[in-house]
Amino acid sequence: MNSEFRCLPSVDRLISEERIRELARNYPHELLVKLVRQQLERERLAIAAGNRCSSIDEMVESITAQLRWLESPSLRPVINATGVILHTNLGRAPLSREAIAAMDAAVRGYSNLEFDLDSGSRGSRQVHIEPILCQLSGAEAALVVNNNASAVLLGLTALARRKEVIVSRGQAVEIGDSFRIPDVMRQSGAKLVEVGTTNRTYISDYEQAITPRTAALMRVHSSNFQVVGFTHSVSIEELVALGQRYSLPVLDDLGSGCFLDTTSFGLAPEPMVQHSVAIGVGLAFFSGDKLLGGPQAGIIVGKKQLIDRLRKHPLARAVRIDKVRLAGLAVTLLHYLKGEALRKIPVWRMISAPLEEIEGRARTWAEALGDLAQVTEGESMIGGGSLPGSTLPTRLVAISGGGRRKGHNIVPALARRLRRNEKCPIIGRISDDALLLDPRSVLPEEDPIVLEALRDLSVDRDSYR
Ligand SMILES: *Cc1c(COP(=O)(O)O)cnc(C)c1O
Repeated sequence: MNSEFRCLPSVDRLISEERIRELARNYPHELLVKLVRQQLERERLAIAAGNRCSSIDEMVESITAQLRWLESPSLRPVINATGVILHTNLGRAPLSREAIAAMDAAVRGYSNLEFDLDSGSRGSRQVHIEPILCQLSGAEAALVVNNNASAVLLGLTALARRKEVIVSRGQAVEIGDSFRIPDVMRQSGAKLVEVGTTNRTYISDYEQAITPRTAALMRVHSSNFQVVGFTHSVSIEELVALGQRYSLPVLDDLGSGCFLDTTSFGLAPEPMVQHSVAIGVGLAFFSGDKLLGGPQAGIIVGKKQLIDRLRKHPLARAVRIDKVRLAGLAVTLLHYLKGEALRKIPVWRMISAPLEEIEGRARTWAEALGDLAQVTEGESMIGGGSLPGSTLPTRLVAISGGGRRKGHNIVPALARRLRRNEKCPIIGRISDDALLLDPRSVLPEEDPIVLEALRDLSVDRDSYR
C-alpha cells in the first residue's frame, strides 16, 4: 500500500477540528459527516493518482469553502450596464414595482387561482388574464402558457399535427437560444413546407404550395436578423387574404409582443399585436418577457374557435403558466390598458429615457472614476430577439484605465473586477481598448451601487496601470 494513505485522518479526527466544530452550530451533523467523507474520498483518489497528501488545514479549508458555497445562492441579481435592454443571458425584462408586488402577494398564501369566489366552485386560471388580453389586442379569445416556444408548439400540435404548414424559407430559422422553427415543427408532428428562397418569397409561392393537407399558413417574425438588399417578403395582409380565400388560418409568431409604436422612439417598426389581430390572423403568439416587459410567459391571442382547440389539447396542461407569473403578467398588461406603460414598465422607461438624462448619469459615473474614464457617444440595443439592427443613441462611460500596460490589455481585468463587485456584480460591454458602461439599461435606483464600485476602482487604479 502507498504509504501516503497513512497521512489521511479519520472522519472523527476531522470532525473534531476546531473550525468544523464551529460550523456544527449552524449545520446538521449528518451534513458535516457527509462532506468530510467526500473530502477524504477525494484525497484518496488524489493520492492514488500520485499526488501528495493535503494538510489537515487544507482539508478543513476545502470543506468550509463548500459550506460557504451552499450559503450563497448561485442565482443572484446583477446590474446590467451592457446597454442591451433585453439581455437573454441576464434574465430579459426587469418588472414594474406593481408587477413585483402582485407576484409577491401570489406566493405569500393561497389565492382564488382556480376558484370562483361567487359560486364557490372550480374555475380557470385563465379568467384572470383573458379579458385584459382581449381588451388590449382586440382579439376574441386568449390563452397564456409557459413561454412563447411552448405557445407555438401547442398551436402547431393542436391545429396541424399530421398536416402541412406553409412557411417562407427565409423565416424557417433559428431564433435566439436555439428556438428553431423546423425543430419545433417536427416536434409538433406538423410537416413544414418551405416556400420561396432565403431572400425572396411571393404570395404566389404560398398559393402554389396549398394542398388538401394544408392546415395553416405561418409567419415567423425574423426577430434577430435582417436580410438586406435584393429581398421580397409577403406582408401579413396578403397572407391573411390568401388564407381567407382557402379557409386557412394564419399563425403569426410575433416573437416580442409589442403593443407600442417603436418608431416614435426612433426605432425600426416592430410588428404590433393589435395590428395582426385587426388584419385577421387566426392566432398570434408572443413572449411575456421581451418588449412586453413582463415575466416569462407565452401568450396566444386570436379566434375563439382556434383558441378553444388549443385549450382542450392535453399539451396545454403540460405547458401551463404558474400562478406567480400569471399575477405579474396581468398587472403588466394593465399598465398598457391604463396608458401608463411608458412610466411604469422598466423596459419602456429605458427605451424612452431622454438622452440628456442618460448623459447626466454617465457624467456622474465618469466623475467617480476620475481620469480613468471618458463619456463617449454610443448605441444601446434592444436585444432579446427584438428589433434587429435597430439601436438607440446613448452615452457610454468608457474606462480605459490608461490603456495597455507593457503591451498587456488591462480591459479584461477591469471587467472582471466589476463582475466580482461584492454588493452586486456589474456587467459591462468590452470593446478593444475600453470597458463600456451604458446607464440606459441600469435601473436608476441601482446608481448608488455603481457609483460606489466605480469609486473603489478609482482608488485602486494603480493596481491596474
Ligand atoms: C423569442 C422568440 C421565440 C421564443 O420565445 P420564448 O418566450 O423565449 O420561448 C419564438 N419565436 C420568436 C419569433 C421569437 O422571437
